Amino acid sequence: MRNFSCLLAGLLLTAFSLSSMASEGNYTLVIHGGAGNISRENISEEREKEYFEKLNEALSAGETILSEGGNSLDAVEAAVRILEDSPLFNAGKGAVFNYAGNNELDASIMCGNTLNAGAVAGVTNIRNPISGARKVMENSPHVMLTGKGAEQFCYEQGLDVVDPSYFFDQRRWEQYRNYLRRSRQQGALYDNPSLGTVGAVALDTHGNLAAATSTGGMTGKRFGRIGDSPVIGAGTYARNGAGAVSATGHGEFFIKHVVAYDIIAQMLYLDRSIDEAAMLLIHEVLGEMEVNGGVIAVDKDGNISMPFNTTGMFRGYVKSTGETGVMIFE
Ligand code: ASP
Repeated sequence: MRNFSCLLAGLLLTAFSLSSMASEGNYTLVIHGGAGNISRENISEEREKEYFEKLNEALSAGETILSEGGNSLDAVEAAVRILEDSPLFNAGKGAVFNYAGNNELDASIMCGNTLNAGAVAGVTNIRNPISGARKVMENSPHVMLTGKGAEQFCYEQGLDVVDPSYFFDQRRWEQYRNYLRRSRQQGALYDNPSLGTVGAVALDTHGNLAAATSTGGMTGKRFGRIGDSPVIGAGTYARNGAGAVSATGHGEFFIKHVVAYDIIAQMLYLDRSIDEAAMLLIHEVLGEMEVNGGVIAVDKDGNISMPFNTTGMFRGYVKSTGETGVMIFE
């Protein structure tokens, strides 16, 4: 009897190790560089190539971490930092200008394993806001810090502090000047503002999910305006056993519809797949109201979804199976 119990325990142990080995080793990383009015007519071939190169660089930074058994938080942070450092995207260097002609940056990060989260909002001198968000998550008892308080905290944490002029980009300045001219003519504050944001979601080989989002917000936003990107549940959400989401689009509506969490909630409570849940939000809930945007999402098994209701969304993914892709248009 004793021998039989030992044999049974041994068999159970082997079965357990085999099943955990089967899920170990699989990783997925998905990134985005914002959704918007992006079409072949308004991007030159040369610019398109630059976008591809930068998206691939961000994917490979994150993949290096994941393929070595690193964690999903490190992977999403590494990928987002590369996109923040590139003037091609509306986050970090190259962020859009607010109505007063300044750059105010928002970012957030979430760990699906612990549900810990961190965010910074309205910062003007932190080179990589996503790392500020991570510091808030790991080294403070808070979830979100804003403005001067966030800047002081990031400085104390030893992050790179830059002069606000570091974020200047001529192309964004011209967009801002055009925006001012048009909104003065039409008397509206938010007339077709430029959008864009960057983000990453990942599943690591240990089954942990993470999400990260960083943005300059919307051209011509009021001084002090905070969008969805640093709001946990709206622009960013991750929960082990379900999925991880990073959003881009007209932030006010993404906050009102709690987009990132709604996708996860549909999976948890209605047993929907990540793609069904993400498509419903982007094409039905937001699309029917003509709210522009998109999301990237990955579930606990590495299935991905990247819906958007605009003409394009900068996006890419890589999986441990070797599948990979970078895309811009529909
Ligand atoms: N969601 C960002 C914001 O509203 C902008 C964007 O993703 O395009 O601040």
